[in-house]
Amino acid sequence: MAPVTAPSHEKYDIVFIGGGSGGVAGSRRAASYGKKVAVIESSPDLGGTCVNVGCVPKKIMWHAADIAEKIRHAKGYQFKGPGIGEPQFDWRTFKPQRDAYIRRLNGIYDRNLEKDGVELHHGTAKVLSPSQVQVTRPDGTSYVLDTQYVCVATGGRPTIPSEDEIPGASLGITSDGFFELEDQPKKVVVVGAGYIAVELAGVLNALGSKVDLIIRKEKVLRTFDPAIQDTLTPWMEHTGIHVHKNSKVVKVEGTPGQQLTIHTDQGQTLQDVDTLIWAIGRHANTEGLGLEELGVELDKKGDVVTDEYQRSKVDGILSIGDVSGRLLLTPVAIAAGRRLSNRLFGPEKFKDDKLSYEDVPTVVFSHPTIGTVGLTEPEARKKYGDENIKIYKSSFRALYFSMVPEEEKEPSVYKLIVTGPEEKVVGIHIIGLGSDEVMQGFGVALKMGATKSDLDNTVAIHPTSAEELVTLR
Ligand code: FAD
Ligand code: NDP
Repeated sequence: MAPVTAPSHEKYDIVFIGGGSGGVAGSRRAASYGKKVAVIESSPDLGGTCVNVGCVPKKIMWHAADIAEKIRHAKGYQFKGPGIGEPQFDWRTFKPQRDAYIRRLNGIYDRNLEKDGVELHHGTAKVLSPSQVQVTRPDGTSYVLDTQYVCVATGGRPTIPSEDEIPGASLGITSDGFFELEDQPKKVVVVGAGYIAVELAGVLNALGSKVDLIIRKEKVLRTFDPAIQDTLTPWMEHTGIHVHKNSKVVKVEGTPGQQLTIHTDQGQTLQDVDTLIWAIGRHANTEGLGLEELGVELDKKGDVVTDEYQRSKVDGILSIGDVSGRLLLTPVAIAAGRRLSNRLFGPEKFKDDKLSYEDVPTVVFSHPTIGTVGLTEPEARKKYGDENIKIYKSSFRALYFSMVPEEEKEPSVYKLIVTGPEEKVVGIHIIGLGSDEVMQGFGVALKMGATKSDLDNTVAIHPTSAEELVTLR
């Protein structure tokens, strides 16, 4: 669809700033109620972070890494022939193929907006007032859209330390740059301990790059349940990732495009590094939007402060998704956008619709994968008291690994946190083969208020890893 280059309505019902997960979902839902809806997107490609430089290309890379592991395991299953046991990944050919798939998705997003009657304006938005948004087109010309509501859905971008903080930091790339790499780096340093750090380190390691991971503390994924941290951190080391604990990068030396030397505060010097990836968090795209001038409150990180109905401090200005700083996940941005449009424009039954940010299931595409929903053990102990918490836990190896050498058998750890005499399930934390696919259904169970006996009363599916969750003792 060719983007619109001037307002086509005297007044829009709602203008979404940002054509990512939240903006696209919210705008399509609003248009489904017959409203006049515009999306303003500064990038030539729709879909935002998830489609272009997030979930989708990341999961494709995860699948490639998973296949590499399966090729290694194939030896144990007595497959013979050239290449078995020694995966050779052709990154240079694969990358354009992956990019082409993303372009196809961009096209689908485009057609979906057109089909649903959402107008796409290509340009950079600035909020002039709660009822006026300026669009500055790539050629520098601009125009103004009048609207009843403005929804800020501008997402975020990776954080990179300043040159003042860490000299040479700008020689590194971020997850955005990872998806631009034309060739597989031989030696990579990843800095960070969150989702992106463990996912990218895991993919690169499985595909055969030499990976050093620099973390500030003892373990990765410190906001996750201890069982997850305690299982993944040593397993990453076991699989060949050199984890530098309690370490910080203090200096990076080299010239752009050449090999780098990285110094840590522990006196380590990592030489001949092809690629340095900063994966130390993200921050909101709120600069230049004109929000603070209008009285919209931003928190310390620059996230838009919103209430439970996605309302900012200024009437008429709303915000959804990563830019509003709560649970930076695509399905969260989508759900918030749809519910907002339901509430504003939908039938009476939706007049109070809002997204609950509690008990949102999430998955980390590490090796092995992780699934988690609800409270961690420390959170549950704090909320309910030690005496009201019971833990069920099982550590095992998935049947799949029965045919592979001992040192390649990935761990599985399944943990259930329950509270009260009725043993209501308040947390489920699993790591191990297939956890990414197992989690969704158990997320439903926890959200519905399942008790331990509800799980026990469900007959197991055998032989699976998932059955462990209904047979815990
Ligand atoms: P975005 O998708 O970032 O969209 C914001 C849009 O606003 C962008 O297109 C941007 O160009 C546009 N914009 C910004 N400023 C302006 C302006 N002034 N004017 C006009 N347009 C503007 N989540 C998951 O659930 N599962 C995963 O597996 C997962 N993997 C991820 C992997 C990586 C490497 C990363 C970085 C993220 C991942 N996420 C994942 C998170 C997920 O991508 C985000 O939560 C999601 O994209 C947020 O959607 P959003 O609509 O809030 O913002
Ligand atoms: P996260 O917030 O998950 O993790 C960043 C981590 O980096 C922090 O937890 C911190 O760990 C560490 N860190 C922070 N500052 C520094 C610093 N200055 N130096 C060294 N380490 C630092 O951010 P990510 O960038 O990994 O991901 C952003 C978000 O995107 C995620 O929170 C998630 O919501 C989403 N996402 C979701 C995915 C999924 O659903 N599978 C995949 C990827 C992203 P510590 O305090 O231990 O040092």
